[in-house]
Amino acid sequence: KMDALTKKAAEPALTRDGKKIAVCGNIGSFEEGKNAMAHGADGIGLLRTEFLYMNQDTLPSEDEQYERYREILDTLEGRTLTIRTLDVGGDKEYPVLGLGKEQNPYLGYRAIRVGLSKPHILKPQLRAILRTSAAGPVELMFPMVVSCGELRQLKAVLAECRAELENESVPCGNPAVGIMIETPAAAVMARDLAGESDFFSIGTNDLTQYTLAVDRGNPLVAGLYDPLDPAVLRLIAMTCEAAQEKGIPVSMCGELAADGKAAPLLIGMGLEKLSVSSSRIPEIKEILRGIDTVSCRELVGKVLTCSDAAGVHALVGAAL
Ligand code: PEP
Ligand code: MG
Repeated sequence: KMDALTKKAAEPALTRDGKKIAVCGNIGSFEEGKNAMAHGADGIGLLRTEFLYMNQDTLPSEDEQYERYREILDTLEGRTLTIRTLDVGGDKEYPVLGLGKEQNPYLGYRAIRVGLSKPHILKPQLRAILRTSAAGPVELMFPMVVSCGELRQLKAVLAECRAELENESVPCGNPAVGIMIETPAAAVMARDLAGESDFFSIGTNDLTQYTLAVDRGNPLVAGLYDPLDPAVLRLIAMTCEAAQEKGIPVSMCGELAADGKAAPLLIGMGLEKLSVSSSRIPEIKEILRGIDTVSCRELVGKVLTCSDAAGVHALVGAAL
């Protein structure tokens, strides 16, 4: 039986002063996609594609990837599907990829670093995403970018894939190409990256870990892991300003987007799309309906002057 909030979640989230905020789902499978829709998702802001490599003896073929993406897109009734390229490494281990153990996996061979050095993994995925984008609104998102150089290399591989598909007369669309901002380097370089990206999505899970030098999975330092630390918030604010200056949309798909306390800050910084675990969509939409963007901006002004996390928490708590 559906509760009242979940029923209401099918409606858009409008702030008190009438600004529409898209609340999308983070998913890692077809079933989770259906669940996101049942919880009122305005789209899928993050499809983690790692599921295609989990418990597999062989790499997924281009056709298989295409079919898996297509079946998700087809459940979205015209809503946008943001497909993130493979984000292996860190704490995510997939034997099928044959990658060895590392001393510092979060600082190691991860995500696009693997893709750029292994075209037999990256190219079939990009081809599958291009093909999927011929069938509906699809966005392509690269994780763990730290520099414009990487983005250019990725776009060059994408252009190669497009040329191949066109040569083969295989239909392909023209997806928006964006990046996750989840490294301090990307946030610092946001102005430059914004000139070469169609959108940004802020990944606060990794951004917090890398900014504060705190392993996101290590309980010994969990007390130091705080996305509301002013160091993290200032990087988020820089990213939003850069995106606004260059006129590209900026969203957030890290866990901070699912924290109701943070919503006024995020809206005050200008985020127009939040992507969260499906079960969080109804409540986040309801919280957004209760806030006003002008007072959110005032709150951000104060929070960005805080010199410690305790100050941020006090201001955010008082604003509730
Ligand atoms: C993030 O880092 O915030 C993010 C959304 O990516 P993941 O959690 O998959 O690393
Ligand atoms: Mg991440």
